[in-house]
Amino acid sequence: MKLDHAETREQLAAFAAGTLSAEERAAVAAHLRECAVCAREAAEWASIRGAVRQAAPEAILRPHVLSNIHARIATAETHFNAPVLWQLLLAQVPLVRRQIWTASALVLTLGVGVTLALRYGADAFLVLLAPLVAAIGIAFIYSPENDAPLEITLATPTSPRLILLARLTLVFGYNFLLGLLCSTLIALNGHAMVAVQLLLMQWLGPMLLLSAISLAASLRLGSTAGVGIAVTLWGVRVMMTSSAVQLNLAMQQSLAVLNSTNVFTVVLAALILLVAVGWLPNQEQFA
Ligand SMILES: [Zn+2]
Repeated sequence: MKLDHAETREQLAAFAAGTLSAEERAAVAAHLRECAVCAREAAEWASIRGAVRQAAPEAILRPHVLSNIHARIATAETHFNAPVLWQLLLAQVPLVRRQIWTASALVLTLGVGVTLALRYGADAFLVLLAPLVAAIGIAFIYSPENDAPLEITLATPTSPRLILLARLTLVFGYNFLLGLLCSTLIALNGHAMVAVQLLLMQWLGPMLLLSAISLAASLRLGSTAGVGIAVTLWGVRVMMTSSAVQLNLAMQQSLAVLNSTNVFTVVLAALILLVAVGWLPNQEQFA
């Protein structure tokens, strides 16, 4: 096989990408030894390919990550035990949208910064931010319609519920730890240490409840609706808590229950979660 100048030029991109047959490769290589123009062009293609690889390492990593998950899932199907579940959890870390991790950390860092700068009404800021940030992140953990890695993971034999629960555990756990860290920072800065528990009790219950609502709404109506509903509910809660709104005693009491961590908020959050996960839409419904 022998290629002329024009035929070689047509093959240069494929040559750089490594998709030619052995015979075609040899023919292109033979022409490159004789033709400086083509040799220069081939070098350009090679550098473009290198740049693309550098710019998009995920594209190269992802198939590897996914094949790992598939291998784990294949062995995990028969019996679930703690190490297998732990691996499933870890396997979801690179697949959950990266923005969730950074956005939560950023907003809460900002919250702590503002709080410490104000040195007044500090705790209120964290108590307002932490549940909202968690709920918004959770609205995005399960949206196959615009999440390629999730779409592929769902095509595997692992139960979609298990994937959902793994992601929920990760994102909620992450936000919980962030909230705990921020509470500790605030408490260390001027308040007594006991304030950590007090602070925690103020945001944990609302965080559970708002996250459960956000997840349920996002599973049924999509991520955007999940965020919209969480933000709206939270806005109403903030408005009603402010002194500007007149409330009767019964409303004040129910609001106080919803605004703290207690049996009612935890059980209600668990019930919403059960219903949401139990009624998980089939994949076909997203198509
Ligand atoms: Zn040539």
